[in-house]
Amino acid sequence: MALYNKQQLRLYNSIDGEKQVFKPIHEGRIGMYVCGPTVYSNVHLGNCRTFISFDMIYRYLSHLGYKVRYVRNITDAGHLTDDADAGEDKISKKARLEQLEPMEVVQQYTLDFHNVMKRFNCHPPSIEPTATGHIVEQIEIIKTILDKGYAYERNGSIYFDVLKFNEDHHYGKLSGRNLEDMIANTRELASQSEKENAQDFALWKKASPEHIMRWPSPWGDGFPGWHLECTVMSSKYLGETFDIHGGGMDLKFPHHECEIAQGEAAHGHSPVNYWLHANMLTLEGKKMSKSTGNSILPEELFTGDNDFMEKPFSPAVIRFFMMQAHYRSILDFSNDAILAAEKGLHRLQEGIKVLQQLPASKESSVDINKWVQDCYNAMNDDFNTPILIAELFEGVKIIHAIKDGNETITAADLKLLEEKMTAFLIDVLGIENNIAAATTGASKHIDAAMKLIIDLRATARARKDWETSDKIRDELAAAGIQLKDGADGTTFTTN
Ligand SMILES: [Zn+2]
Repeated sequence: MALYNKQQLRLYNSIDGEKQVFKPIHEGRIGMYVCGPTVYSNVHLGNCRTFISFDMIYRYLSHLGYKVRYVRNITDAGHLTDDADAGEDKISKKARLEQLEPMEVVQQYTLDFHNVMKRFNCHPPSIEPTATGHIVEQIEIIKTILDKGYAYERNGSIYFDVLKFNEDHHYGKLSGRNLEDMIANTRELASQSEKENAQDFALWKKASPEHIMRWPSPWGDGFPGWHLECTVMSSKYLGETFDIHGGGMDLKFPHHECEIAQGEAAHGHSPVNYWLHANMLTLEGKKMSKSTGNSILPEELFTGDNDFMEKPFSPAVIRFFMMQAHYRSILDFSNDAILAAEKGLHRLQEGIKVLQQLPASKESSVDINKWVQDCYNAMNDDFNTPILIAELFEGVKIIHAIKDGNETITAADLKLLEEKMTAFLIDVLGIENNIAAATTGASKHIDAAMKLIIDLRATARARKDWETSDKIRDELAAAGIQLKDGADGTTFTTN
């Protein structure tokens, strides 16, 4: 029997504002779509948190035995600098400023995004479609929406008719907004004058002569509106109605509201059963923002090259720190909080190391089955990772009590404890465990090689050969290995 039959998962559905028992459309299978990055700059740490949150969700659903098709797109066209369908395409703008082809910009930042996701130990999605790879499908769905009477053409652009849609459907149900209030609060801008109403949004925009990213369509050369790609790619790969749609909280409106409108207009029914939104990251209590300088790139955290943290932190520590907050809570990044997370993670990893050497007894004085179920209860309650981590620390307490002879454990319970400690920490939370790796033969060899390198550097330092000792330190750092000189000698950590 699959685990998901024994564990009842409840998740917070943003569209209803409540926790609900999760039931997939097809037994044992889940379709999950998460809005991916617009690849015009290095991935922001706040975005990383969203993707790491959904990686944890993907991992837990897979751990429960579901076959998950996880689709996360790459936005490589159509995302304008202004939410109200004005401004420049973000990628074209970057290409113009850096004198590159738009696809060079896309390639550069897609690679950066993949690299950062890998450093954070995120699984790749099952499908990673791009907006430019689905222009034909986007044109087709626009034709359908036009045929159904929910869109109109103006000067080669196609706009979604929000008022018409709202006559038969409810526009604003995800974000809790009311169309009448939105209309009352809008100032009509000159650049939007070709729209019938300011709330209408572009499905297709006519390309001005200087716009480089353009495709032919029945309405002339143009490019798709940003919201459309997600409707097209999610329905193409997951069906017209699928299980889970995720994204950052900031995408609720207008992006996800527009996705619902497009899906309902084209297919006549709701595109998504469960909407999940991950909350944002603040830095020292303030919103992260590149323009105010209150921002760190992931790479700057790993190297320590930033103005906020007193030392470098490994991606595993940063990920563990993020997991200590619930994905729907705001999380504040600060030096002290990450230092505390680093200590906590080491305590867990040490616990797992001790666990591997515990003696088995004839009887257990500890209730491991209850502890296991407590861990599942935490995750079943809308992926409550902070509670799960608290349970893992309970597991470490049990481990030390057994080690100190205050409690006993049978061989079967010991196996269960070890299996679940590592499953939750490594498979579900996605924390790479260096100590677990250190028990494998390959790591023993690496440790021996590192000891030799550290000894050679110490010898160089002793004869004041700074050139050699700096070269060793810098080249190891470039390879992601940090040396740390302390009172007890030199140790190393890897990113
Ligand atoms: Zn999207």
